[in-house]
Amino acid sequence: MSIQPVRLFGDPVLRTPATEVATFDAELRKLVTDLTDTMHDQAGAGLAAPQIGVSLRVFTYDVDGITGHLINPTFEKVGEEEQFGPEGCLSIPGMTWDCRRHLRVVAHGMNMYGEPVRLEGTEMLARCVQHETDHLDGVLFVDRLDPETRKLAMAQIRAAQWFGQPEPVVKTSPHPLFGKAL
Ligand SMILES: [Zn+2]
Repeated sequence: MSIQPVRLFGDPVLRTPATEVATFDAELRKLVTDLTDTMHDQAGAGLAAPQIGVSLRVFTYDVDGITGHLINPTFEKVGEEEQFGPEGCLSIPGMTWDCRRHLRVVAHGMNMYGEPVRLEGTEMLARCVQHETDHLDGVLFVDRLDPETRKLAMAQIRAAQWFGQPEPVVKTSPHPLFGKAL
């Protein structure tokens, strides 16, 4: 297993546009494995490399029982239909808000061996492609919410227990510190 800590809202890596993958080597395959293992561990529908602190254009998905990955992805909408429904993000744990997305998209990219891949999806898969590609541009789905919902979302994020923690909290002792000198 190579489960990595998921970076949370507020971490600058999530706001940094990721770099195109140029080398399809063992290190890249390890990254895809890490992303896949971490996504499954978190029961996520998708995970982008910046979310584990790697600023490369790679994401994985697990939608309708199908797990895959896409490298250097681009996508375009198919038709004009939109979907409006709940969306969440492993970097904003425990929260969902309704977000507008294209209903159907077709994505192009490569697999970890550098072979071209085409991925067409509707509904959840389409939502996932748009959400993960946004991550690679430093965009988070709260940026896509309507202004009212975004305001609410930002207030909820600021109030979250995890918000503002520079690193994942590691408890070194199960005992309370009350009454102890440090
Ligand atoms: Zn996300």
